[in-house]
Amino acid sequence: MKAAAFFEYGPADVLRYADVADPVVGPHDVLVRVKACGVNHSDLDSRANTSRWDFRLPWVLGAEFVGTVDAMGSAVESVQPGNLVTALLQYSCGRCARCESWRPDLCLHLKIFGTDCWGGYGELVSVPERAVIRLRPGDDPLAIAGGQCIVSTAWHMVNRLALVRPGDLVLVPSASGGVGSALVQCAKLVGATVVATAGSKPKAERVKSLGADEVVLRSADDLEYGPPHVLRYADVADPVVGPHDVLVRVKACGVNTSGRTCPCCARMAPWSPAARTPTRSSVSTW
Ligand SMILES: [Zn+2]
Repeated sequence: MKAAAFFEYGPADVLRYADVADPVVGPHDVLVRVKACGVNHSDLDSRANTSRWDFRLPWVLGAEFVGTVDAMGSAVESVQPGNLVTALLQYSCGRCARCESWRPDLCLHLKIFGTDCWGGYGELVSVPERAVIRLRPGDDPLAIAGGQCIVSTAWHMVNRLALVRPGDLVLVPSASGGVGSALVQCAKLVGATVVATAGSKPKAERVKSLGADEVVLRSADDLEYGPPHVLRYADVADPVVGPHDVLVRVKACGVNTSGRTCPCCARMAPWSPAARTPTRSSVSTW
């Protein structure tokens, strides 16, 4: 098959449209003919050799792809040739202790398309049947391939981690980014009131158009309302003590986040020799 493969690490121009080996299709696999493929930032790190993983070159990247079923293994029953499909961009083994403990995200044998096996930068991809997702005939391959990682991450955050419910108040910082813009839409679908922040007026207008109820425009004037390092140990006015008040000298104080926080690490950690291990923790969403 043809693929945009890289035969050496480097910038984008190391990608070559070249003949590479066809994927192997086992009895439980589906051969997908690719119509569209997203470009994830992890692709750029992998190609530049700044990721955590070593690749046996040539390599075919691409975790997020959409295509049609070209052929199937003898044991496949759920799809037919011509069906429009996508695939879980990463899939678990379904058999290890972590999978059996309902934590497939911690699977010891997790496979990521484009990282552990060839992905959608080629004409064809072999996908295990259990990782295939059927789409509707009229679905837009470009939109699905481009949004799969960010939307699935946001959906997981809203519905599995933060457990957002109708009427909840949700804050989405930096909502103009990929995951942020998907979070605004997912939280609105659930019925939450969404307050978002954005760094410029055009970005704020875009976030508003996605359904955010309020968009706070961050500016240089807002820096006093920022991350913890804006806190300063300084002299301020003493509290007023009325006839019915007690003045308490503080010995300890907690930090109340007044809700559920759900940070998302959207990019793998930068490369370092110590970090070059096959751990997956940095790409989980917690
Ligand atoms: Zn597993």
